[in-house]
Parts: sequence; C-alpha cells; structure tokens
Amino acid sequence: MNLDNRHPEAPRQERHTATLFWTDFKWLVFMIALGAVFGWYAGSIEWGIIISLLLYYGWRLYAVQQFYLWMSRSLTVPPPDFSGSLTFMANQLYESKKQKQKVDQRITALVTKIRSSLLALQDAVILLDKEDRMDWWNQSAETLLALSSEDQGRSILQVINVPEFHQYYVSATSPNEGIRLRSWRNSERFLQCEVTHFGHEKLLIIYDVTRLQHLEKMRKDFVGNVSHELRTPLTVLMGYIETFSDQPDLDPKWQRGFQLMTQQTSRMNRIINDLLLLSRLENEETIPVEYVDMPRLLVNIFDDAQVYNKEYGHVINLHLDSQKSVYGSETYLHSALLNLVTNAIKYTPKGGEVNIGWQDSKEGCLFSVSDNGIGIAREHIERLTERFYRVDSGRSRNTGGTGLGLAIVKHVLYQHQATLSIESTEGKGSTFNIFFPSQRIYTEDKGNEDDKKPT
Ligand code: ADP
Repeated sequence: MNLDNRHPEAPRQERHTATLFWTDFKWLVFMIALGAVFGWYAGSIEWGIIISLLLYYGWRLYAVQQFYLWMSRSLTVPPPDFSGSLTFMANQLYESKKQKQKVDQRITALVTKIRSSLLALQDAVILLDKEDRMDWWNQSAETLLALSSEDQGRSILQVINVPEFHQYYVSATSPNEGIRLRSWRNSERFLQCEVTHFGHEKLLIIYDVTRLQHLEKMRKDFVGNVSHELRTPLTVLMGYIETFSDQPDLDPKWQRGFQLMTQQTSRMNRIINDLLLLSRLENEETIPVEYVDMPRLLVNIFDDAQVYNKEYGHVINLHLDSQKSVYGSETYLHSALLNLVTNAIKYTPKGGEVNIGWQDSKEGCLFSVSDNGIGIAREHIERLTERFYRVDSGRSRNTGGTGLGLAIVKHVLYQHQATLSIESTEGKGSTFNIFFPSQRIYTEDKGNEDDKKPT
C-alpha cells in the first residue's frame, strides 16, 4: 500500500533541488578558498575572501543578466552555459517549451482536421454561443440557411423564425431526438434539426430528410391503401361465411371449417381496422381537439371492461381521484385507454384484480391501469409499442390480439403530448401509466373552453 500521497514527481524534484544547492555551494566554497589563499599570499586573508566574494557576486549577476536576455528571446534557441543552477533552470524551461510547442502543433493539426471535415460535411453544422448567437458554421449551413458573413453573431432564433423550432430549441435537453420541420425556404423539402449542448455553448446540426420523409409517406400510404382495398372483399367474405354458417341444413363435417373461417376472417378484420386507424393517426398532423370529460369517459371504459371481463371474472376497480378533463380526441382516447384496460384483463389469469385510476399529478394528470397478471420481462418492455411486437404471439392470438394495440396507444399519446411508462414484474403484474401534461388538462370554467384549448 502506498502511504505517500505526494505528487509522483515530488521525490525527483527534491533530488534536483539538493543537487542544485550543492552545485552552487561548491562554487561558493571554492571562491572563498581561492580568496583565502590569495589573501594569505598578499598578507590579509579577510580582504582576500571579501574580494573573492565580490567577484563571485559580479559573475552571478552577469549570468542572471545573460539568463534574462536568453529568456526574452522567447526561449527559441538552446540556452548557453550559465553555470550552476541557472543552467539547469534554463534547460528545464527550454525542454518544457519544446514539449508545449509539440502539443500545440498536434492540437492545431487536430482542430484543422476537424474543421475541414465539418466543412466538407453534407449536414449543416452551426456553433452557437451561450446567448444563442451564431459563432461559426460550415459550407452546407451557408447553402441551406442562405447565410453570409454578415450573419456572424446573429441569433439563431432570428435566422430560423419558425415557432415549432423555437419551442423545440428552448426546451431541448441533451440528448434529444430533434425536430423534423418543413423547410421555411422551400416548402417541398423537410429538415431534421438537432441541438446538442456542450458547456454553455450549443451545436445545431440540420440535415435534409426529404427523401426519408417521402419514403415514410409511401410506406404509410401503401399500408393505408392495402388495408382499405382488402376491406371490401373481406366484408363480402365475412357476409357469405355468416350466411352459410347459419344454414340449418349445413353438413356437420363443414361446421368446424366454417367456425375457423369465421374466427380468422374476424381476426383479419380487426387487423385491417387497426391498420387503418394507425394509418389515420400517422397521417393526421393535428387531431380534432375537443373537451373530453375524463371521469365520464373512464366510467364508459369501465362499463365496456365489465362486458369484456365476463369470461375472466376479475375484480375491476375504478379510482376517480381527480375530476379534471383533457383536451383531445375522445374517440382516440377511448380507443387507447380501453386497449390498455382490455390488455390488463387479457393478460391476467382468471380471478385477478385490475385497477383503473385517474389522479392529479405534479404538472399534469395521471391515468393508470394496473393488474396482477402474467407481467412482462424487462427486455420486452422497450419494444412493446412496436407494430406486431408480442411477448408471446400464441397467447396474443388466442386472446384475439392483433399486436397493434400498443402501437395505436403510442400514436394517440403522441398526438396528445402525453407519455407512456410501463412498470412490470414477470409473474406479478404490470402497471401502465399515462401522464398528460398541464397544457392538455382542463380544470374548470367550461365557458372559456376555446380560450384555453392548446394550439
Ligand atoms: P396484442 O393485440 O397482442 O395484445 P398489444 O400491442 O396490445 O398487442 O400488446 C403487445 C404485447 O404486450 C402483447 O402481445 C403482450 O405480450 C404485452 N402486454 C400488453 N399489455 C400487457 C399486460 N397488461 N400484461 C402483460 N403483457 C402485456
């Protein structure tokens, strides 16, 4: 164990100090001895020593002056021999200066490399100071934002004068997902903006995502169109299957077949309906905003849940601890919240308990559904809101699941600026919490509804 907590260089420095002292001391002793010998020859030892000490002193003063002259040349040339400790100090200074020069050269080369790679980058990079003023930008930023040298020091909020960007910029923490905007200079193009904080400064990166936006649009349209096109033939098929199954003279050997066809076509119908709903949610930039009386909506959901619960026989409790309401779409909220409640019923073995809650929370309101069902292993939780992601696809299918429920929930919540958090322990149960921020909460004075609606 090392009990010596001094700087690791300390013993070496102490050794150097001792060597320096002895070098100077030896010179002093030599001069005194020389003075004494000459004094003895001349008849006065004292005067010999005094004269010798004065000579020594004059020699050191000259050395100090030379040392100073050498230093004033910015330590660019190797030091001459000053004798004694001054030579040692000069060598030390010269070596550390050389080291520093090397480090500076390396840093300058690195900065040049970083600058040139930033300049060559396709993405726009803008360096902002702590007052949000533009400090430096690359070539792409110049083209994308039409910047000129006169913009140096201008606030980025003036340059990008778009309310959505301002909203994002002031609230962006690091790391964040950025914001996608329609270009304010060319409405055909889409830009992704990402702010990163470092110290008091910020780095804004903007890149063109028009192609990605088009591909996403194509994917959404494709899913929407296919679902829509499949709907009509499926409805015809379901109609005929139902008619044939109801025939009293249906051969018993076909009965099982018709039963399976009915099950599978209604499953396909549910998937198509969910896909169409998802496609609608994705394509709507803003949802119809209305006053949603949450306590009333939750009572309706509670009643629907009781019907669904018949074959499970759980105890379902509704805890309405807040009377507050939400601005949003009643249809979408009903669909999303009911989905969480039916999931809690579906994924809880018979005779369990499901609790639905609505309560005030810090800076908003909280909706929660908890069950004491099968729970979800930690590694699945992150991915549950992906389309068709199921922990156990067999169980999901048997309970009539489409694997799209939580994807719909995610989109509905996004439209309401609400956030979903999931807590679960495998074998013990799960809790799904939805937090609605205060700008979505409506408290009282329904007369002024329009004034309070979020934009
Ligand atoms: P599904 O139609 O399969 O229920 P969801 O998107 O609603 O699709 O849910 C995705 C998956 O999340 C489900 O397949 C299930 O594995 C899991 N899940 C959702 N809610 C619960 C819950 N309350 N308890 C346990 N697992 C759940």
